[in-house]
Amino acid sequence: VSVFQDVPQAPPDAIFNLTKQYKEDTYDKKINVGVGAFRTDDLKPYVLPVVKKAEAILFNDANLDHEYQPIAGEESYTRAAVKLILGEDSPAIVEKRYAGVQTISGTGANHTGALFLSLFYKKSKKCFISNPTWANHRNIFSLVGFDVEEYPYWNPETRGLDYVGLLQSMREAPEGSIYVLHACAHNPTGVDPTQDEWKGIAEVMREKNHFPFFDCAYQGFASGDLNKDAWAVRYFVEQGFELFVCQSFAKNFGLYGERAGNLTIVTKSETNAQGVLSQFEKLQRSEISNPPAFGSRIVKTVLNNQELYNEWTKNLQYMSGRIIEMRKALRDKLTELNTPGTWNHITDQIGMFSFTGLKKSQVQVLKEKYHIYMTENGRISMAGVSTKNVDYLAEAIDYVVR
Ligand code: PLP
Repeated sequence: VSVFQDVPQAPPDAIFNLTKQYKEDTYDKKINVGVGAFRTDDLKPYVLPVVKKAEAILFNDANLDHEYQPIAGEESYTRAAVKLILGEDSPAIVEKRYAGVQTISGTGANHTGALFLSLFYKKSKKCFISNPTWANHRNIFSLVGFDVEEYPYWNPETRGLDYVGLLQSMREAPEGSIYVLHACAHNPTGVDPTQDEWKGIAEVMREKNHFPFFDCAYQGFASGDLNKDAWAVRYFVEQGFELFVCQSFAKNFGLYGERAGNLTIVTKSETNAQGVLSQFEKLQRSEISNPPAFGSRIVKTVLNNQELYNEWTKNLQYMSGRIIEMRKALRDKLTELNTPGTWNHITDQIGMFSFTGLKKSQVQVLKEKYHIYMTENGRISMAGVSTKNVDYLAEAIDYVVR
């Protein structure tokens, strides 16, 4: 008898299973608006031109070897990542009360940050995630022992933020709770708090001593402007919060498979930062020993070179611009078809996703009748929409909502 006899079958991951089904589908008009990966208008994966340049630089570097990286990553990488999110003039950087740890992309940053808090954060074992949120937040925080609860976020009636509900949750939550906040381009709703709303959120979080755990997987993807997309995080730092920010370079560098990420830590003092970093190194050692080198080398090559950095911002504008165009194209087509309902939210929302409001039963018909693949909650990855398939997509949506 196997020692694994009693291991039950786990369900497949919803998103990656959707991609598998899409790949197996032989229908020529099939559409994949499930997974959040950028596609060109020809629906091909996109290698950023600036990434190709950085690769050329790396491949031509005769001194490059394959030695281990330091446990927390090269400082030239983590420092550049911290600067990117906090801004060069951040008080945390000026006062040296920050640390950076290279992680296995954004997922690893979430995990390592959560693991650290499970060991060293003594105020609360409660962690609040938005309803809805990236499916992995619950997995990650419950894995390390947090009691995970949801805070209201999406208001289906206004198809916008449930600001009142969110603040109420924060006021009622036990003092010192951890709040996982999407820094920009909220996944899956595409709805972000306004700057005034962020100010209100910060105020209540300070009153209640909650800990802000920012997840920033889309810097540069929401507005196309790296600084604008970092506004909320920078505001919290200016307001004197200690916080974590998970950074992913999967989307904004198109380095999905290379797993380049960073966890930025802001503390009260330089000594705090050093102590925290030392514990992160200890944790990282037992989990992965050393972070992978290839993706992070590309990222730091670009971030530490003004010319390449400028080119990167142009590549980002192309990606965010194409998504904005597709939002407009989809909304226009639905309006032209007189599809029942209002569709302004498609262009009001930002980032990679649109939370359409389609019901589970409608999503099912889209898949079975039209070979259009999206998550059950009606989320569309706008990156899977192109000038070639937008009419078909809109006609299919029109059919299912009538
Ligand atoms: N956080 C959010 C909200 C995301 O949407 C994603 C990716 O979809 C991630 C984190 C992390 O992705 P990765 O581990 O590929 O960087």
